[in-house]
Amino acid sequence: MIKINVAEIKKQLIGSTSYHYDLSPADLDLSREDADLTGPISADFTLSNGGDLILLKGELHFSVKGQCARCLKDVTVALEAPLDERYYPEGTENLEEDAFTYKYDVVDVTDALRESLLLSVPARFLCKPDCKGICPVCGADRNVAPCHCDTRTIDPRLQALEALLEK
Ligand SMILES: [Zn+2]
Ligand SMILES: [Zn+2]
Repeated sequence: MIKINVAEIKKQLIGSTSYHYDLSPADLDLSREDADLTGPISADFTLSNGGDLILLKGELHFSVKGQCARCLKDVTVALEAPLDERYYPEGTENLEEDAFTYKYDVVDVTDALRESLLLSVPARFLCKPDCKGICPVCGADRNVAPCHCDTRTIDPRLQALEALLEK
């Protein structure tokens, strides 16, 4: 939970304060199933007075472990997630259902950080953009050594027929 008292920010017309946090996954209620984080999540953001609301702007930096979708190698990727949210005083009318609110001058940024991080984790990892993957025939890592297998798909039924015809 990252709760920040914004009373001072609200007192000033153009009040704004910068924050830096090094967070653990637990700080953002993240489990290993959500994202396999390899170190602390670095959060840099400002909270500023936006009149009736508080503006959150900044970014997260973190590294996630995954497996290359093509060659199955373990990869660690450094990612960045933008933070750009608004916090309305609780009780504000006509708010959208997913709008963030705050009360008693305390803004809890946990959910915004968590959501932004999760949105930035790719569904599919690649060890490099042009990973050649594993040969489906011999299993060789084609990034290391190109093999000369015929990788055109062979229908096993056709293969059986061919064998019959050859007799
Ligand atoms: Zn790969
Ligand atoms: Zn091969």
